[in-house]
Amino acid sequence: MSTTTNSNANRAAELKENYDSVTATIPENVRLVVVSKYKPASDIQALYDIGHRHFGENYVQELVSKANELPKDINWHFIGACQSNKCKQLAQISNLWGVETVDSESKANKLNNGRDDDNSDNKLNVYVQVNTSGEEQKSGLSDMTEIKKLVEHIKSSCPKLNIKGVMTIGSFEQSTTSNTNENVDFTKLKQIRDQVAKEAQVDDLEMSMGMSNDYLQAIKQGSDNVRVGSAIFGARKTKEEMKAL
Ligand SMILES: *Cc1c(COP(=O)(O)O)cnc(C)c1O
Repeated sequence: MSTTTNSNANRAAELKENYDSVTATIPENVRLVVVSKYKPASDIQALYDIGHRHFGENYVQELVSKANELPKDINWHFIGACQSNKCKQLAQISNLWGVETVDSESKANKLNNGRDDDNSDNKLNVYVQVNTSGEEQKSGLSDMTEIKKLVEHIKSSCPKLNIKGVMTIGSFEQSTTSNTNENVDFTKLKQIRDQVAKEAQVDDLEMSMGMSNDYLQAIKQGSDNVRVGSAIFGARKTKEEMKAL
């Protein structure tokens, strides 16, 4: 066996072990999105080979090239900052399952219009991103009226989109405090979800919340969709470190 084959096999075994220990803690009704940003296609393929299908990416270019290279039955989630000028390119990825970071009517319209297929079975799932922590550097809407208005807009004016839920990235501080306490970002997202579901009359509005540091707590607080990267792949280089390579 060549050295490369050996190290690929070792890496696949390591990924399987991490994946199995994460999935052992996730109930069946909660969707695990494996966040693969900056990770090579071979890592994704290894998890695909043991049956995983939902993967999340943060950068449009990286997602486009991975989607071209990898199997077409992967369900891709876009979870990065959604720039207006990239919405069309994003929407055209045929096996894009959803975009979790929609925060304006204009972006929703661009995603809707960019979608080639108006076949009603193939709607693009979208989540409205909510800024629950009030941190300035986080994207997302924080005003209840605006959130509700965007949900209603997607529902009434974007026939190629399916309003799937609301999403938050909790504050780092909340994610690293004791797990016995509730995470107030998750509590806030739940209040918003409940109110929007009722007032905008959308059934089954999901909550996407929880990452490696806090997904167990997010599940306790009702998360439907957790986004886990480093707990499976190991620590990730920062964008700056990647650029310096
Ligand atoms: C990177 C990222 C994740 C995964 O983070 P980990 O801490 O590696 O699990 C989840 N959600 C979003 C929006 C991200 O950008």
